[in-house]
Amino acid sequence: MMVLGVSWRLMCYNYRRRKEALSSLSKVEYLTMIELDYAEVTWFLNGYCKFQCSYCPSLSKNGGLDFSVDQYLAVIEKLQNTRYQHHSKIYWKLGGGEPLHYPHLSSLLKKIKERPSIVRLDTSGDDSWFSLYSVLNYIDRVKLTYHPWQNDDVFGFALEQCQERNIGISIVVPLTPGKINEARQQVQHYKDLGYVCSEQILYEEDGRLYQGYSQVDENRIYGRPDDYISVPVIPAYVDLSVPNQVDPVYTGKPCYAGVDWMTINPRGFVSYSQCGGRNEHYNVFDPQWQPPNSYFACTVNQCRSEQDRRKIRIVTE
Ligand code: SF4
Repeated sequence: MMVLGVSWRLMCYNYRRRKEALSSLSKVEYLTMIELDYAEVTWFLNGYCKFQCSYCPSLSKNGGLDFSVDQYLAVIEKLQNTRYQHHSKIYWKLGGGEPLHYPHLSSLLKKIKERPSIVRLDTSGDDSWFSLYSVLNYIDRVKLTYHPWQNDDVFGFALEQCQERNIGISIVVPLTPGKINEARQQVQHYKDLGYVCSEQILYEEDGRLYQGYSQVDENRIYGRPDDYISVPVIPAYVDLSVPNQVDPVYTGKPCYAGVDWMTINPRGFVSYSQCGGRNEHYNVFDPQWQPPNSYFACTVNQCRSEQDRRKIRIVTE
């Protein structure tokens, strides 16, 4: 009885504490959170690619191979040490640049695979028969981008090898300037063969439509007649400090941004959510960097990203 009495007082105390300052999560089991099957780490391993496609953002093709394999391995270890305290598995989405052009890719994959994980490699498959082949034993899924320079035999070989190993395949075909219809035919070709395949509209790094598209390209992308003349659209200003009627407000509530999901850009800079609420934007290659290992109190007016809400646990009442 005495134990029950103590527990009850403790519960009341914690409830008040949560209400007032949200500073204690010792009773987090009384609150509501989504359930996640894994922590997710999206990592653009490098900003280097030998193919130099004209439509590829400079961040993804003009970088060097500046960091040593030991620096990468140290980052993986820090992520493993922290993520596995919260999740039984990590879903690694590894891209680039071109990850196959990172010379120590297999060492990284080997380290990642020492612990329970799902690995998806986002790659062109390269232009040689054996680039992808050499890492197939470490990957569970592959997202292949089909470029106009692609060698169909090599691409077909990659598809065949992935199928033989039950590696999940999805294909993306960029809508490259001057070749919108051809790219769409390619999408249809892979769909007819039974693959999950989608087209990719190209954008600038600042979010505008790729400036290399002609008016005809743009019209084809959006299904308009070739001779359509588009009217310039004046961007509407959205004042994010004014709450809308749709998205929930979690200000001050515990949020696992940075624990459940993170993305690391080709230069090593990390973000922990789309909202940017957790603003410890450090570089993972900085020896002082430590991955977040606990919730923090949401600092944002309104939780506006559906992706954040699907991939990050937020403690609500
Ligand atoms: S707005 Fe950002 S920080 Fe706040 S709850 Fe949503 S994801 Fe977390």
